[in-house]
Amino acid sequence: MRILLVEDDPSLGEGIRTALRRAAYSVDWMRDGRAAMAAIRDGGIDLVLLDLGLPHLDGIEVIRGARRAGLDVPILVLSARERASDRTLGLDVGADDYLGKPFDTAELLARVRALLRRSGGQAQPSLACGELVLDPATLSVRWCGREVDLPRREFALLRLLMESPGRILPRESAQQRLYGWDEDIASNAVDVHVHHLRRKLPAALIRTVRGVGYVLDEKAAMAGEA
Ligand code: CA
Repeated sequence: MRILLVEDDPSLGEGIRTALRRAAYSVDWMRDGRAAMAAIRDGGIDLVLLDLGLPHLDGIEVIRGARRAGLDVPILVLSARERASDRTLGLDVGADDYLGKPFDTAELLARVRALLRRSGGQAQPSLACGELVLDPATLSVRWCGREVDLPRREFALLRLLMESPGRILPRESAQQRLYGWDEDIASNAVDVHVHHLRRKLPAALIRTVRGVGYVLDEKAAMAGEA
């Protein structure tokens, strides 16, 4: 999951970025509204966390611009503007949720999860496919009731696969959603993560579609421990 964070306050931005990375999200951090607008138009973002008071282009204008362009990426506004009129304006021009500053990191993460869930058309808090269960809130994975310990990127990749079991996750889109723009990555990074996942979970759970990407195999997940 790739999140665009738009915040011009350096220490607040740093704190939010750290919290999001710990929760296994890939974060692109931008400090001004114009750059944010360009990034949103480029696509490949799962969620936007948006401050309202920004250099070059106000957050409200960013939301307006994105919606006018027909982009439906979920937007969560983070702002210290206390007036109810600012909150309602943000929501009315197309934001999906609003969190007033200062806020609690745990609440921010819960709202992020809820928005991502909703945009994925999912109501249940955890993702399940057969014997495989992933809980984004506790960052835990269970296979046949047994806890499987995964590092951040492997967890994030499995989360992507579990969002649409049985459907191909193209390698390129996985890479785009696992890494930020500023990260240097090897071209086979996704393959390496899959390789590691297959050593910790039954290898048949993740099928390779040659030249395209990977699929979470529902039959293997239903079958349980082989
Ligand atoms: Ca600001």
